[in-house]
Amino acid sequence: MEHGEPRLIPSVGGLATALRTPHESGGGLWFGWPGDAMRSPDPRVNELLERHRVRAVPVSAAEMDRYYDSYSNGLLWPLLHYKTETQRLDADRDFGTYRTVNARFADLLANEYQDGDVIWVHDYHLMLVPGMLRERLPTAKVGFFLHVPFPAADIFRVLPQREEVIRGLLGADLLGFHTASYRHNFALAAAHVLGIEAGIEALSFEDRHVSLGVYPIGIDVAAFEKLAREDKTSEDADKIRRAAGNRKVLLGVDRLDYTKGLRRRLLAIDRLLEREQGLRDRIHFIQLAVPSREKVEAYADLRRTVNELVGRINAHHGTPTHSPVQLLYRSVPISQLVTLYRAADVMLVTPTRDGMNLVAKEYVASRVDEDGVLVLSEFAGAAAEMQEALVVNPYDIAEVANATKRAIAMAPNERAARMRALRSRVAENDVARWAGGFLTDLARAASARDASPQPRPRRAADSDASRVERALERARAFERRLILLDYDGTLVPFAAVPELAAPDAELLDLLAELANVPGNEVHLLTGRSRPSVESWLGHLPIGLATEHGLLSRTPEGQWTSPRARGGAWLEPAVTLFSDLAKRTPGALVEVKTASVAFHYRRSDPLLAAARLREARERIATLPDAEDAEVLDGSAVLELRARGVHKGLVAAALATGYPGAAVFAAGDDRTDEDTFAALPEDAVTLRVGRGSTLARFRVFDSRDVRALLRALL
Ligand code: UDP
Repeated sequence: MEHGEPRLIPSVGGLATALRTPHESGGGLWFGWPGDAMRSPDPRVNELLERHRVRAVPVSAAEMDRYYDSYSNGLLWPLLHYKTETQRLDADRDFGTYRTVNARFADLLANEYQDGDVIWVHDYHLMLVPGMLRERLPTAKVGFFLHVPFPAADIFRVLPQREEVIRGLLGADLLGFHTASYRHNFALAAAHVLGIEAGIEALSFEDRHVSLGVYPIGIDVAAFEKLAREDKTSEDADKIRRAAGNRKVLLGVDRLDYTKGLRRRLLAIDRLLEREQGLRDRIHFIQLAVPSREKVEAYADLRRTVNELVGRINAHHGTPTHSPVQLLYRSVPISQLVTLYRAADVMLVTPTRDGMNLVAKEYVASRVDEDGVLVLSEFAGAAAEMQEALVVNPYDIAEVANATKRAIAMAPNERAARMRALRSRVAENDVARWAGGFLTDLARAASARDASPQPRPRRAADSDASRVERALERARAFERRLILLDYDGTLVPFAAVPELAAPDAELLDLLAELANVPGNEVHLLTGRSRPSVESWLGHLPIGLATEHGLLSRTPEGQWTSPRARGGAWLEPAVTLFSDLAKRTPGALVEVKTASVAFHYRRSDPLLAAARLREARERIATLPDAEDAEVLDGSAVLELRARGVHKGLVAAALATGYPGAAVFAAGDDRTDEDTFAALPEDAVTLRVGRGSTLARFRVFDSRDVRALLRALL
């Protein structure tokens, strides 16, 4: 507000700058929480936001406590920065609010969405939004960028809501990270948490392709250079140097955050001055600590510790006329920041973890004089691109002290050579390039998806359900009905161990009743082997086709001989798979009549991927290998007699039962063979997601049972 008139001040932050051009030229909308502006009763505030195409997402103060301070900043932030011990212990209970606020973003976005729009979601506060958008807008182009690190899978695993978070992220077409290592960590975490196959540049999830890209964010280099070249900047930088008594100026610029390595940095200065007493009166270290997240307890503690450390260093190493460390607890306007950068002989950027760290890039961009030395933590994302800095391990206090000493003493030609290399890379990868690169790849990823079959929404739309019911109504009018049902995932939900997925009493009654309706013929088509199916369902008057139709039983209980034999390949294949499983913790081998399966859902994804490569190579060398075929299932590799599949059984049954209305339901790839073999007017039903030949889709086994009941 200025003289009562509301004003909109553009943020100087990198992200806002990067997206200003796409926002303005592409007619974009910004969605976000506008802070206190929301509470202003002044209608002009809203008009102003409206005019700048900003959509305010309302978040109440109570929600902000739980969503932002607690779950996002008290739990996610430390976890993503490897600081599990700093997590707020009970912040997990605020996940509900995190989900509510994420859903609000998704709802508002979906309301304003128009065909062809591109949606770009930013950062760890909104990790569920891509998945929520995918449900609301199945065909939308959705990208997500993570501005913080993605930690190693073993750290991420700590998160109680890990599965929902990973699923949320995988709603996007493209996920962007600052470094190859964050991307790698994410791919492995997703593979672990969801039991899907690990991939480096893409993951397949629920029949969608999710691309994974690396886009190190840059800064608005031109803006920093322009400020740095102003006369006033040089004059003010000189003033700072003079005020420092022409000592070497060291600089740190950080939000006061426990990830920034401030305490260890101060300890390194302490150690340096302890060892090199001659430096005590020759350096002046300015640390700008920008207040941050003061409502989160860990931050208040940090402020106290930093104050104490600075006090201690100045008390030990100060002289009557000089204190080596000057701590400024405030933020400064960008022009002053550039002035500080210009004044600093040595810039200390030593976070213990940092997604990127823009300060490192801003320092380099501001050094139009090609002078100054950057000391940079190897755990800042920026280190991946800035190896010409003095790269240090911030946990190694002696190393940081040594690097600081070396920086102070560095010869001018070495300083210039390093700075030139750094400057040219930072200039090349500026923020416009970052945004452009991401948006180009997002368009590409989404158009690849458009070209492949579309997933449908999770819940069958009402119209879908009523269409199935109408089709069933017609089926009831037939004299004869052939009902073909898959078992796991279709009639019962998946269980932890296959032996636990036994039929419940309700299902047994339903199948018996169905089979007893005159004119009905019911068959179960399953990949399971004969013993379990027979012990569970053998007493019912239904047909059983096991091992994908290798062995069949008529409803009267007559087993036919197998459609194929194992062949010479089977026994050595069992030996091969057992050998692989022995070397793959968590894996197990299932031996059936004419097939053998390697299950790896509970194994390390990278290890499993290596074993699968090995399996494929060695399968080709088995005797009569051409009589067998490989079936790639969900976390299972199966080798079975060639040419046996559910479609053969389905076709034979349909021919053997002419004039019947046909109903078939299934949930995975093997059931697609059934659908493909049936006449066009069959009522075919796919359970769950995935591309399908079926005419209808339902959500889960409860829906299937309800429809079967309707058939009675
Ligand atoms: N910054 C600022 N005012 C200050 C000090 C710093 O706006 O008084 C800016 C600085 O220019 C940089 C950002 O804060 O763009 C810090 O970004 P960085 O990636 O280094 O760390 P983050 O705070 O995002 O963890």
